[in-house]
Amino acid sequence: MTQNLVRDEAIRLPMRFSAGTVGARFLTALRDEQRILASLCPQCSLVVCPARSVCPTCCAGIDSKVIPVGPGGRLESWTHLPERGTFGLVRLDGAGTSMLHRLLGLPESWTTGMRVTARFAPERHGSILDIEGFTPEGGEA
Ligand SMILES: [Zn+2]
Repeated sequence: MTQNLVRDEAIRLPMRFSAGTVGARFLTALRDEQRILASLCPQCSLVVCPARSVCPTCCAGIDSKVIPVGPGGRLESWTHLPERGTFGLVRLDGAGTSMLHRLLGLPESWTTGMRVTARFAPERHGSILDIEGFTPEGGEA
């Protein structure tokens, strides 16, 4: 009888692709204005952050209408990965969706539901990492 053998491996697939019109506006606003943009779905009125061209709820195409949200928001959930850092789902003020990003500070600093605010990187290059991460609102952890 032949035994099924399994190999556990990870495949790394580096990719490079266009951010698209709405994504480029989002990234440009992070880099040049330190503003976080969301898109407003014309069909279901969901405010989607980060801004994107298709609504994740109703799949309607979203034109180029973008609106600023945050930089403050509420921490909806978080996790700490040893040697990788702490990550959270943040619902920015005015947004109808959550953004996954780094939390800057000690794991003991975080509680679900607390207020947080975005900290922008001192040097920005048009990437989601132009937001360095989120800190507790009103002070560092
Ligand atoms: Zn929608």
